[in-house]
Amino acid sequence: MYDLVIRNATIVDGTGKPGYAGDLAVSNGKIAAVGKVSDSGKKEIDAQGKLLTPGWVDVHSHMDGQATWDPLCSPAANHGITTLVMGNCGIGFAPCEPNDEAHARLITVVEDVEDIPGAALHEGVKWDWESFPEYLDAVERFPRAIDVGAQVPHCAVRTYVMGERGAKNELATPEDVASMAAIVKEGLQHGALGFTTSRTELHTTGGDQVMPGTYADEAELLGIGKVIGELGGKGIFGLVSDFHNWEQEMDWMKRLSIENNCQINFVLFFRDEEDWDRVLKQLDYSRKAKAEGAQLIPHVGARPVNILLSWDGTINPFSFHANYGPLSIMSHEQRLAELKKPEVRAAIVAEELPLMGDAFMDTIVGGYDKLYPLGSPPNYEPGPEDSIAARAAKAGISPQEYCYDLMMEEGGKTVVYFPCFGYGANDLSRQVALIEDDSTVLSLADTGAHCGVLCDASIPTQMLSYYVRDRQRGHRLALEAVVKMQTHDTARCVGLADRGTLEVGMKADLNLIDFEQLQLGSPQIIFDLPAGGRRMFQDAHGYIATIVSGEVIMENGKYTGAVPGKLIRGAQAAPQAA
Ligand SMILES: [Zn+2]
Repeated sequence: MYDLVIRNATIVDGTGKPGYAGDLAVSNGKIAAVGKVSDSGKKEIDAQGKLLTPGWVDVHSHMDGQATWDPLCSPAANHGITTLVMGNCGIGFAPCEPNDEAHARLITVVEDVEDIPGAALHEGVKWDWESFPEYLDAVERFPRAIDVGAQVPHCAVRTYVMGERGAKNELATPEDVASMAAIVKEGLQHGALGFTTSRTELHTTGGDQVMPGTYADEAELLGIGKVIGELGGKGIFGLVSDFHNWEQEMDWMKRLSIENNCQINFVLFFRDEEDWDRVLKQLDYSRKAKAEGAQLIPHVGARPVNILLSWDGTINPFSFHANYGPLSIMSHEQRLAELKKPEVRAAIVAEELPLMGDAFMDTIVGGYDKLYPLGSPPNYEPGPEDSIAARAAKAGISPQEYCYDLMMEEGGKTVVYFPCFGYGANDLSRQVALIEDDSTVLSLADTGAHCGVLCDASIPTQMLSYYVRDRQRGHRLALEAVVKMQTHDTARCVGLADRGTLEVGMKADLNLIDFEQLQLGSPQIIFDLPAGGRRMFQDAHGYIATIVSGEVIMENGKYTGAVPGKLIRGAQAAPQAA
């Protein structure tokens, strides 16, 4: 008798092969049989033809803090994510000296760079660790619903080893590099999936200081990367970069990869249309480097880099208006009461736009042809006719009035969509080209981060509901291909061969989905982080059950209280053939 049998499902198994009707049986947390299952199970679920897939594997999260206090890593579990990888972009909480000042320093970086409320981190993170292995132990001790894997973050390592010099981005000495390498090696030996660093000037802290490690030189990067070679290629080297000198960057990445037999996961994103050519060249470079023995894996996003503007969020188009200033520090209720007053609205929308000569900020303040109602269900691919400028003109009111009234909907909770980078084509054609490219991996959800402005943890849901089913402004993707992208492919790119497909011996991480009804909810700011911290939360509808190691953790959007999740320690081998 099996522990669980799911019968009459439409199985899309993550290998890319065509979906088929069948059953699936689970024993001891693993898939025991797929196809026609005649034996019964202690628990049986009649899928009634609904879609059965592997659980989603999200390889780019910033749950390093939240994973120590939230068993669900919300909203990951709401979107069918059963495995999360954290420690991306060089960000994380270990190692860290065991004193308040050092704790506060790391929290400030995470708050500034990833927009995770500092007060929530101060209250939520317990700091019962100093070293990276101790952090892993703390993550492991905490009961959780989904699996998490960690990576050693450069920022924390550099700050720990170099103190102020590290934080101020001074050049590392050979001794510094040796100390950092030893810490990274220890982390990998204890189960980190990899090491990550940030080389983008977009990640700033303390005003305009780029985060520790941004300008690390080749001696530091290769010196740290060398430990992966010493461990026989165990562990991944991850980075995000602006790629100002992309060839130079890719050259050292290639060398690092070949010399150490190590895989490099790099974030490949772009801002403006003129950067597109560089992106294509980098894809080409990765392919050619592969022929030379390098493993350079471009990580790409399914959405443009976007910001959701709202009254309760980090920023909205009126944030810099003089008449809005006093409201910005009020509570949600107080502010809403003020905003409802006709005289307050009139004063704010009549104000001259407080432009500041910065293209990015000025778009938020007044670039209404680039701002869109996100709508319900959310539309991440609006056309020019959908912009607030176009809609306001049609309604015969000013864009300011239109935007103000829009944000007042749903009790002042409605968000405005600003696709800031990668939307120069005014559609998702660039994103589709990137995710369809054979060499890339779907990534960049930043799950758990940028709490005041976005919720891209919902991307796996959108991949099915939009890219497979609803898209009108371009071609759609095949269901089997999309399922493979966010299960098999994401799992393999972080060294996890024990999950991601519905095959015998694999971990029984599953999603049972009502595909026709699958839909994204509207993102809204809620205040449920520790210390009442705010975050953008987006729900999903249509996940009938999400299962981790054979245990149902979510049922029709509700948490069951089960805690089958584990800390993943290191790369996981494929099950032995039965
Ligand atoms: Zn990130």
